[in-house]
Amino acid sequence: MVTYYAVTDLMRNAEQLERLASTDSLTGLYNRRHFLVALEAEWSRFQRYYCSVSVLMLDIDHFKSVDDRYGHAVGDEAIKATAEACLLGKRKSDIVGRVGGEEFAVLLPETSLSSAKLVAERIRKRIAGKTLRSHDANFQITVSIGIAAASVSMSGADSLMVAADHALYQTKAQGRNRCLCWSPTPPTKLAAE
Ligand code: GH3
Ligand code: MG
Ligand code: MG
Repeated sequence: MVTYYAVTDLMRNAEQLERLASTDSLTGLYNRRHFLVALEAEWSRFQRYYCSVSVLMLDIDHFKSVDDRYGHAVGDEAIKATAEACLLGKRKSDIVGRVGGEEFAVLLPETSLSSAKLVAERIRKRIAGKTLRSHDANFQITVSIGIAAASVSMSGADSLMVAADHALYQTKAQGRNRCLCWSPTPPTKLAAE
């Protein structure tokens, strides 16, 4: 009896440790480490079965000015609100991670680029439509979202992340508060024509 309880305690502790190691404490989302593990697993499925898989990379626009204007604690609340918006309506198999300070990634198994675009646009609109509060003012935030789908031309899960990141970089360059899909850069000669 004593041994049984000791073993279940150990198992419970191990589960708690695993949860802590894979979770971001501010938002409750998966952390970067766990997100990348899940992405690798999904990449393996893509390689074996060619089932579509897409990734969204989100970054809050001009977030430094939110911290500067309203303070770090209000900034943290904005990060939590963004996390909630990403989680709302997600399928059980979708994985949402906080992969940087104000950066998030969404892994969408069995999802084509065009469906991922719809998901991204829904999240973007949800965030833009939220009213956030500081002590003496209401304010809004927006996000930019880069979207990429796994393709046979990619060398691995890393390339999929890089592609989504690249698309995110382009959304920032094009003015923010928008979603953009990754597409391979055309060869220099064709681009110049
Ligand atoms: P951009 O539109 O180009 O993304 O501009 P930005 O200001 O959002 O980008 P930048 O990467 O320069 O700044 C990110 C800021 O996010 C810097 C830091 O003050 C803030 N930040 C990062 N992590 C946290 C956090 O955990 N809590 C809070 N409150 N702020 C954070
Ligand atoms: Mg950033
Ligand atoms: Mg930012």
